[in-house]
Amino acid sequence: MKLVIFDVDNTLTNTGRTDQDCFLQAVSYVFNVKEIDTDWSHYKNVTAIAILDQILRTKSGKPPRKREVSDMRDAFLLNLKERSKKRPAEFAEVPGAAQMMTELMKKGDYATAIATGSFADGAAFKLEFAKIPYKKYCIASGAECFTREELIDIAVTKAKSVYGVANFEKVVSVGDGIWDLKTAANIGMPFIGVGNKSLMESNGVKYWVNDFRDLPGFFNLLSTAV
Ligand SMILES: [Mg+2]
Repeated sequence: MKLVIFDVDNTLTNTGRTDQDCFLQAVSYVFNVKEIDTDWSHYKNVTAIAILDQILRTKSGKPPRKREVSDMRDAFLLNLKERSKKRPAEFAEVPGAAQMMTELMKKGDYATAIATGSFADGAAFKLEFAKIPYKKYCIASGAECFTREELIDIAVTKAKSVYGVANFEKVVSVGDGIWDLKTAANIGMPFIGVGNKSLMESNGVKYWVNDFRDLPGFFNLLSTAV
């Protein structure tokens, strides 16, 4: 069995900007900090907990407390839900994503997992809003680890347990961010880029789709990507 690990924001749902806005809103609400650098590629590690840690150490010299992180996560989810009522169009799927996941999950030789740098309940909300099916207990989130490499590792571990396999024949990562492609390169994992054509090309990404409307094309990449 092979495993496909998907990022969420701007990979399955077009929620990159919305996720960022809701995250920043929650940070300033819980920690009362402002003027935050919003280019995540400037951060040492790109997971929710790593970004939060770096913001707070820079602003106050102290890392966040556990309780504060959970308050922030609750505020973030609430922000997402309110935003989805006001601006549902911001929660659209990347074209073809729901159909692609439905078809992929029907294939007996592929397992699927989600690796989001953001929070798990937020990711579940976005996927459900866009009607994209996913394996419930195969979500690795940015609240669980500091690095993207650990995030992928957690997704693989969860998928092994859910699908009851000791190892996967092959694991492919699918994502849109510079951190997604760098992480896959660091681990030596096949990678398929989504969107961001110039970023993908300038970083030598060999396998790339604009979205998931060409299903046979994407499935072909899944089997050929090395
Ligand atoms: Mg993304």
